[in-house]
Amino acid sequence: MKIEFKKVIRDNTKLSFKQNSLSIDGKCKKLTPSLVEVKLSMIGEIEIDCVRCANTIDLGIDENVELKVCDGYFESEDKDLDVIECFDGIIDFDQIVNSEIESIMSDYHYCNNCKQEGE
Ligand SMILES: [Zn+2]
Repeated sequence: MKIEFKKVIRDNTKLSFKQNSLSIDGKCKKLTPSLVEVKLSMIGEIEIDCVRCANTIDLGIDENVELKVCDGYFESEDKDLDVIECFDGIIDFDQIVNSEIESIMSDYHYCNNCKQEGE
């Protein structure tokens, strides 16, 4: 799902879409003419491989994501802010969700068998 930056309004713009096997609900609102706040909740399951035996695991996902999207380069002293820069005037929620999924998948996950062996 994508939204044009200029179409986001100051009131909350509601979002609801599906991506892969996840249901995503959320909202976004304009904080400044070039900064949009995005809040998403992602619920569902993704398939990942156990890092030990490579069995497929159905990993339950229940994640809240909060970040900001900047229209163009983001310049601030505050490096702690989670800001994505966008350069084509379009907020790409698919990409935001994908990068969240990637960061979840980059963690070490063990299947139930391997978890028990480790205990
Ligand atoms: Zn395993």
